[in-house]
Amino acid sequence: MKHDAADVIVVGGGHAGCEAALAANRCGARVVLVTMKQADLGVMSCNPAIGGLGKGHLVREIDALDGLMGRAADTGGIQFRLLNRSRGPAVQGPRAQQDRVLYQNFVQAEFAGAVDLMLAFGEVTDFIVRDGAVCGVVLTGGEEIRGKTVVLTTGTFLGGMVHVGERTFPAGRMGDGASNRLGSRLRDLGLAVGRLKTGTPPRLRSASIDWASVGRQAGDDNPTQFSFMAARFSGSQIDCGVTETNERTHDIIRDNLGRSAMYGGRIDGTGPRYCPSIEDKVTRFADKSSHLIFLEPEGRTSDLVYPNGISTSLPEDVQRDYVRSIAGLENAEIVQPGYAIEYDYLDPRGLNPTLECQAMDNLFLAGQINGTTGYEEAAAQGLVAGINAAKKASGQDEVLFPRTESYIGVMIDDLVSRGVQEPYRMFTSRAEFRLVLRADNADQRLTPLGREHGCVGDVRWEAYSRKAQQLELSLAELQAATYKASDLAEKGVTVRPDGPRRSAYDVLSLPGGGADMLRSLDDRWQSMDFEIADQLARDSLYA
Ligand code: FAD
Repeated sequence: MKHDAADVIVVGGGHAGCEAALAANRCGARVVLVTMKQADLGVMSCNPAIGGLGKGHLVREIDALDGLMGRAADTGGIQFRLLNRSRGPAVQGPRAQQDRVLYQNFVQAEFAGAVDLMLAFGEVTDFIVRDGAVCGVVLTGGEEIRGKTVVLTTGTFLGGMVHVGERTFPAGRMGDGASNRLGSRLRDLGLAVGRLKTGTPPRLRSASIDWASVGRQAGDDNPTQFSFMAARFSGSQIDCGVTETNERTHDIIRDNLGRSAMYGGRIDGTGPRYCPSIEDKVTRFADKSSHLIFLEPEGRTSDLVYPNGISTSLPEDVQRDYVRSIAGLENAEIVQPGYAIEYDYLDPRGLNPTLECQAMDNLFLAGQINGTTGYEEAAAQGLVAGINAAKKASGQDEVLFPRTESYIGVMIDDLVSRGVQEPYRMFTSRAEFRLVLRADNADQRLTPLGREHGCVGDVRWEAYSRKAQQLELSLAELQAATYKASDLAEKGVTVRPDGPRRSAYDVLSLPGGGADMLRSLDDRWQSMDFEIADQLARDSLYA
């Protein structure tokens, strides 16, 4: 494919860009993805983990639409935990610690195998605009790429400014140049630009940590994966370490607050309230004598550890001192300092629910550029923008995601109707219909929609159809079979013995009931598939 034959140009190879390019391509578009360099594809700028509360729901929904992130995270997963396990299934969130290299290899292989999807490397500095509509991009050096629609996913790179204590320099993230020319071009186009910030902790050398003196957090015995297509996980999992800050740590931080970029008044942007820096924690929760730190290995063979919980913009010497005041980290070697980054975002209220700019036809925006934070939020927006950019390029109707039907829809609606006052991240509490929008039923909610719009391939569709048929048959069978309340009570189900007969479907969700109980009650349920039974039990519970 030649560059000038593109239907969709995607700018940026981060989580939003990758998902946008692949989704547009699945919808039949010829795609060119332009990013600074090949190594961008699949990079995790911050923590080596995918999923979590609300975020895990987004990954499941991306997967239900045949997206990339869930499958990549299952392949890269080195520790799987279902968060909120003790609470109802609606608010449980799958999370997986990642091997950065395995995750990235999976993403790169996906692009290597795609047809009609070209990669181009370089910095996009301008748009080609004709009659109020974007019809291409210009790279440094003047090379032009023409296309019918453009999806912009430049993350933290627009006007990016890194802060490490008193040291400040332009960068998109540590080690990568900022994207300043494109940032000023967007301002010239009249788009509303604001400033946000985020931070990351120092990376530690694993061999310098005294692992014997810190706590351990293991993965789940029965790992919950992201993809509906995943085979049962058979690999080994890696423990994380657990330690905590102490009064001495807090004293060191307090004594040096004036040298912190965030507290020294050198950063204007608003930071993520739910992901506070260690300076924030020590100041805002001054009565707490310690804060937990999870020591997360960055891979199976990596010597790097991500200390989750101590992101900072203090100078390097202070980072070293406070890190070494923590149990287990007395001799810790900092391989890369923590830092804060301040960057431009575009007010998402200027977007349609397809993520197309109102002020500029054919220009779609997705990811951190829209004021969100997190890989999952970025990827989910990329998917929406990619599908719609492909639809627009081929003259087809837009594809909308109502907030009643998906977390993706909740996020898009929040962004375009309310905008952001701080970096936006997903939580289950944002979804009014969370009892219906569960991680476990994302395929039932979205795979048929994705198939209808051409972004779900044959292999997934066949697997989904088989499962849907099994669910339908099993549901009919469970609803038709009824049991006397006295027999159920005798077996330990919480029902009044003189109450009405109950269907096997009801029994699935009654206290003391469930699939195992049904199997012990009646041989006919012995052959019922575990996954199908679990799914119907959750459906029954929320029915
Ligand atoms: P990115 O992943 O940043 O990708 C942008 C891509 O665009 C890059 O590949 C870049 O090379 C490319 N690009 C940029 N400009 C151009 C151009 N002009 N031409 C061509 N290519 C270009 N998330 C959390 O959930 N929690 C956190 O605590 C957290 N902390 C963070 C700390 C730091 C320091 C950083 C940098 C990010 C942090 N994040 C955090 C955010 C997370 O990394 C992002 O939300 C996510 O990566 C955004 O995805 P994206 O695709 O929008 O952008």
